[in-house]
Amino acid sequence: MLWPGIKKLGKELGFKRTNSQVVGILKNCFVRMYDGKNMKILEIFSPEIDDTDKEYILNLLNQNKIKKNEWKNNGIIIIFEEYIRPYSIIKIKNILFTIVEHFEQKYPDAIPKCHKCGEQKNADVYSTGNTSDFLCSDCLRRYKNDLDREYLEYQQLPTNYLSGFIGALLFSIPGIIITVLLFLFLDRLAAVSAILYIVFGMKGYKTFKGKTSPLGALIIIAVGIIMIGIGILVAYSAVILRELKTFDIDLLIQILKMPEVGKELQANIIIAYTVSIFYIIIQLFQITREWKFSKNIQKARDI
Ligand SMILES: [Zn+2]
Repeated sequence: MLWPGIKKLGKELGFKRTNSQVVGILKNCFVRMYDGKNMKILEIFSPEIDDTDKEYILNLLNQNKIKKNEWKNNGIIIIFEEYIRPYSIIKIKNILFTIVEHFEQKYPDAIPKCHKCGEQKNADVYSTGNTSDFLCSDCLRRYKNDLDREYLEYQQLPTNYLSGFIGALLFSIPGIIITVLLFLFLDRLAAVSAILYIVFGMKGYKTFKGKTSPLGALIIIAVGIIMIGIGILVAYSAVILRELKTFDIDLLIQILKMPEVGKELQANIIIAYTVSIFYIIIQLFQITREWKFSKNIQKARDI
C-alpha cells in the first residue's frame, strides 16, 4: 500500500514508484518504502554490511524506541508501528538519512549492488508486479525469460472450463435454498443471493479446477446470472405451493402459466436483476483483473 506521506517523501528524494512501493537509490543504498497495516516499512540494502554496521543501526533504532526490525542479506527492514497517529515522516526521513550516510562514509567507493546477483554493475530500479527490484542487465534478461516461460506454461494449462462451470452450478445450489427460505419466511426478495451465487460459484469453480482466467471469471458471472432467475422461479413456486397446501406440480405449472402470475414473476425477476447488477459488474471487473496473468516487469514509474 502507498499512502500520501510515504509518496511525498519518495517524491522529495527523487524516487520512483510501483503499485505499492516507493523505491530508489539514496547514496549507495537501494531503498524501498511502503505502508502496511498500522505500520510504515522502510527497507535499506547497502553494498556491504558487517557486525559493527548492524550494531550502529540497532543503537540508532533503540534510541528512537523502534522495536521491530528484520535483517536481510545486506539489508534491514525497519517497521514503524502506528497506533493512533501515523508515524512521523520526518522521523523516518532522519533515520533513513542517518543510516545511508553511515554506509556512504564507511564504504565510500561502493556502488549499489544488483539485488539478485550482488554484482556491482550498472543496475536500475524495476517494478515487478507489486514489489520492486534493483537489477543488472543480466538479471533483468533472466527475469524476463523466466516470465516468458511462466506465461507459456500458464497458456498451456488444461482448460477445464466445463468442469469449472459444473462446479459453479453445483456450489450455487445452497444460494437457491437460501433465496427460497428468505422468500418463504421473510417474504423478502433475496437480493443478497446474487452475492451468494458469486461467492459459492467461485468456490465451486475452483474446487472443480476451472482455469483461473478472464473467461473463467465470465463463466462464474454467467452462472450467477442464470441462478438469480432460477432462484426467484423456485422461490416463487415454493410460495404458491405453500398457499395451495399441496405438492401438486401440474397445478403449479398451470398457475405459473396464468398471465397475471407470469407478470408478477417477471416483475420480481426484473427487481432481482436490478438490485444485483452493480454487484455483478463490480465482480466481473474484480475477478477478471485478479485472474489475468498479471506478472510483468517494467521500469518503476515517476511519482
Ligand atoms: Zn544481477
